[in-house]
Amino acid sequence: MAELDRLEFGKSDFVLLDEVTMEQFMQNLKLRFEKGRIYTFIGEVVVSVNPYAEMDIYGKETVEAYRGRELYENPPHLYSVADAAYKAMKRRAKDTCIVISGESGAGKTEASKYIMQYIAAITNPGQRAEVESVKNVLLKSNCVLEAFGNAKTNRNNNSSRFGKYMDINFNFNGDPTGGHINNYLLEKSRVVQQQEGERNFHSFYQLLRGGSEEMLQSLFLQRDPSAYVYTREGASSTTSNDDRSAHKAVLSALKVISFQPQEIDTIYRILGTILHLGNLDFASDGESVQVTEPRAVENIATLTGTTAADVSKALLFRTVATGGGEVIEKGHSEQEVTYGRDAFSKALYERLFSWIVGRINAVIEVKDYNPVLHGKNTVIGVLDIYGFEIFDNNSFEQFCINYCNEKLQQLFIELILQQEQEEYDREGIPWQHIDYFNNQIIVDLVEQPHRGIISILDEACLGVGKVTDIMFLDSMDTKLGQHPHYTSRKLSPTDKSLEFQRHFRIRHYAGDVTYSVEGFLDKNKDPLFQDFKRLMFNSNNPVLSEMWPEGQLGITEVTKRPLTAATLFKNSIVALVDKLACKEPYYVRCIKPNEVKSPMLFDDARCSHQVAYLGLLENVRVRRAGFAYRQPYSRFLQRYKMTCEYTWPNHLMDSDRDAVEAIVKQHGFQDDVEYGHTKLFVRTPRSLFTLEQERAAL
Ligand code: ATP
Ligand code: MG
Repeated sequence: MAELDRLEFGKSDFVLLDEVTMEQFMQNLKLRFEKGRIYTFIGEVVVSVNPYAEMDIYGKETVEAYRGRELYENPPHLYSVADAAYKAMKRRAKDTCIVISGESGAGKTEASKYIMQYIAAITNPGQRAEVESVKNVLLKSNCVLEAFGNAKTNRNNNSSRFGKYMDINFNFNGDPTGGHINNYLLEKSRVVQQQEGERNFHSFYQLLRGGSEEMLQSLFLQRDPSAYVYTREGASSTTSNDDRSAHKAVLSALKVISFQPQEIDTIYRILGTILHLGNLDFASDGESVQVTEPRAVENIATLTGTTAADVSKALLFRTVATGGGEVIEKGHSEQEVTYGRDAFSKALYERLFSWIVGRINAVIEVKDYNPVLHGKNTVIGVLDIYGFEIFDNNSFEQFCINYCNEKLQQLFIELILQQEQEEYDREGIPWQHIDYFNNQIIVDLVEQPHRGIISILDEACLGVGKVTDIMFLDSMDTKLGQHPHYTSRKLSPTDKSLEFQRHFRIRHYAGDVTYSVEGFLDKNKDPLFQDFKRLMFNSNNPVLSEMWPEGQLGITEVTKRPLTAATLFKNSIVALVDKLACKEPYYVRCIKPNEVKSPMLFDDARCSHQVAYLGLLENVRVRRAGFAYRQPYSRFLQRYKMTCEYTWPNHLMDSDRDAVEAIVKQHGFQDDVEYGHTKLFVRTPRSLFTLEQERAAL
């Protein structure tokens, strides 16, 4: 508390700014960053700036200082949010969620881990073994998911290449009883190709550098990542990740989570298979295509529990049913073989990742919970998902990610504003309407049935004959030409930023993004020859076979088109938003201070850009127009009665409300409050700080 209002550290809540301008906001953010104060409130929202340095602010003492306290009693911290979510869950039996957003490298994953550690630290004081074991699995799952889902990129050495939402379940005691993880859109293209200076997923390097001699031999692998096409690009790039020790940690975490030996073995066999697949070369004699290293095919067959003949056949031929129901084998062209091989590698990895998540879920799933016996089962959800992305070249992946952010922004608007309105209505306080940009129009542009971009894309993918990306663009131009948030080169020929014919632009809430349509159709169809699915299903390794259930379909039975990637993603995001919408939300907004991972540098332009697109100024305005703080009369009285002669040690008034009014009047901030039916509403934190100070001085 002592430093809450110390000016040299800036304002601990942006609501306290003299004026809500970008300039003042940035001044305060920068000052605090330079003084090592990386967290700042906007009411209950925590704004975090990545310190790029180890901070001594997460230890046991800090945990104790935040445990069970009110937000404004301590300096802003992730623990403030974690504790607020936990209290709401425990005291009021509310399901809550903590939404962590920000761009790549802003510190989302680190924040989510500190939040989970905090929750683990404050629960299960009795050290009950079954609760400890649940906590252990929840914490260890991070290590496994990071190994398989994270990679070094040019922006972050440990970048999450998937979205993650984790529910933690609690019993009536407030102790964790289990959980569930949902994963979103793994960037599987990374398995076969990385940009210059980037790496494949950590798991490959960890295996090659950290696996035992015996393990590598059994997988027919050499230690050197530069020996494999898929890991060559990242082979020499240095990272702070120590692959060897990480490999040990992952193995041990897998065991703690109770993965069986055969399952662990299969995980590494799949990684080995993928590395061997990447090294396959093919040659064509004009008539048919052959694999030039039969040895590698044999290795793949051994690792996948199949035969070399079957592996070759799946790679080189495609089994199709003719119109008359006859089954024939059709040889691929060399280009098709390479394409099919890469699609297979990507699919193997994606399946593996989803299967790992499923296995963790099976372990942490809440079993035998009887609400009559155990009381309501409550949940805290933690969302660590990719933030808004604008690259030099934006493709299908950025389109999906930015759509996801539009949905989350929409939810933010709905929940924050709607929740405020409901609370004011309940408490009989007049509501003042706040103007804000409602991004529903952009959400509709993307997802509306029949007319939205995803529908147009799916329709293009259904087309017979050779439908090209450009035809998809033409179709969007025709259908969306009038939309205020859509344009393209053809529609705006004089616009310099739409340089190429293949570009279209969406005016997102967070800024304009120009996408290239190249590859949209293929990425959306995401085809994988059925032959690979059958090959995997028929493996004599039951763990592997289990990952490919659709391989059991006969050749003539495969008639239904699978859902497209965009539609699958949309469905998963709609389900996520539904899940979040019925919970009480808490927000952490992460900012990346510079592009060079420096603890010293505050890049003004980069930071103000993020502040703008995260909508933080708008957030402060909403907060200031309403009431930043509210508390039941009895609790307020309990905390501050000693600061007023009429209420200390006890008040003789008719009600707690009257007593609270006496305190407010004595301190002279009656203009800063409204009296609700059961709660006091305080507009700015300034008044509470005064009270806190007086209380501390007594
Ligand atoms: P991505 O979207 O790429 O996954 P992210 O937002 O999850 O990015 P993190 O991986 O959490 O980013 O953070 C990037 C790096 O920044 C971390 O590996 C760590 O080095 C540093 N970092 C982030 N938060 C903190 C913190 N609170 N204290 C110290 N270092 C941090
Ligand atoms: Mg991350």
